[in-house]
Amino acid sequence: MAKRDLIEMIPLFTHYPMLAKNLPHVAFGDFPTSVHRLKALGAEFGSEHLYIKRDDLSARLYGGNKIRKLEFLLGEAKQNGCQRVLTFGYAGSHQTLATAVYARALGLSSVSLLLPQPNSESVRENLLISHEHGAELHHCRDLMSGVIAAWQLLRYTIKDGRFLKIIPPGGSSPLGIVGYVNAAFELREQIEAGEMPAPDFIYVPLGTAGTAVGLMLGLKATGLKTKVVAVAVVPRKYSSPHRIKRLFRAANDFLRSRDGSFPQCDLLDDDIDIRREYLGGGYAVFTDAGRRAGEWLQTQEGIPLDGTYTAKAFAALLDDLRRSQMRKKTLLFWNTYNSRPPAVVNRSDYRRLPRRLHRYFEQEAQPWIEMRIRKTLTEK
Ligand SMILES: *Cc1c(COP(=O)(O)O)cnc(C)c1O
Repeated sequence: MAKRDLIEMIPLFTHYPMLAKNLPHVAFGDFPTSVHRLKALGAEFGSEHLYIKRDDLSARLYGGNKIRKLEFLLGEAKQNGCQRVLTFGYAGSHQTLATAVYARALGLSSVSLLLPQPNSESVRENLLISHEHGAELHHCRDLMSGVIAAWQLLRYTIKDGRFLKIIPPGGSSPLGIVGYVNAAFELREQIEAGEMPAPDFIYVPLGTAGTAVGLMLGLKATGLKTKVVAVAVVPRKYSSPHRIKRLFRAANDFLRSRDGSFPQCDLLDDDIDIRREYLGGGYAVFTDAGRRAGEWLQTQEGIPLDGTYTAKAFAALLDDLRRSQMRKKTLLFWNTYNSRPPAVVNRSDYRRLPRRLHRYFEQEAQPWIEMRIRKTLTEK
């Protein structure tokens, strides 16, 4: 892609040309992602000011929120001449899957170290599609065995002479977070173009926090007054205000080290709005409130949500809309879940996966809602 086109797709680079020079980046997403009003659902809830940002369509092969981060992280892998990437996540991680898909598209091989999680149809789907895209999958019993496996792989790869790029869980390093700083600049351009009014609140799931922190930093830098409502989908120790502040500072310092004209920003306690009442039984444990929220968006607007992240965040938004003063506010739901069917995979192929992953196919999965527009698993 020509440098000019790239700069247009990355508004952060238009405003800070030094960043375009000093940051690694590969373009494989479709940006800007669209924003539009959720008319039917808004009418049901008595709100005329309900909008969605379609990061679910952030790339052609596979969308969702990991694309913005991976454009920078895989850009660094390419720049450093790495031939392999190593990443971590839970068994049904969208991050490890997105890494597998786009590493392969860039000619890199990928390894995923996976930790156990509650079972669901989407875990099965993600495992099969990762495998289909050539990812080497390892299932680790716990964090410690994951660290040991990572160490062994690292030694093996060094001996092998192939450079390995490590992508942190969720892609939430300062470099990965730049993807969501840029997303705030992208939103401001859309507001200036009249595509939507400046939102009062943006709702996002809070996992490894890169998405929420990137938006918080980007919003500060653009001067928008929008607040981020971060709906925790992981326990407090992974999503504390302390962690958010630390990541915010690290990402801000990182950007300033690459372009001294990027502003120094401050995150105040008031800027951090974390909702914890939607987590339910824990990470990736589906909730009834999530199921109901997912059903609303699916039936009214035809947009699918997932039970681990987006449905919990959307449940928080719908609860807020039950208060009359919130119905006058402009709310933006930032959809972080992929809605591009990446491949049709055959369920019975699971036997080609490492043995330890078979249990996700042989044990029961939590029920989720009926998906009418998306069926990627075929039964045989
Ligand atoms: C990874 C993921 C998130 C969490 O984003 P973080 O930046 O890790 O907080 C939210 N939604 C979906 C669908 C995801 O896959």
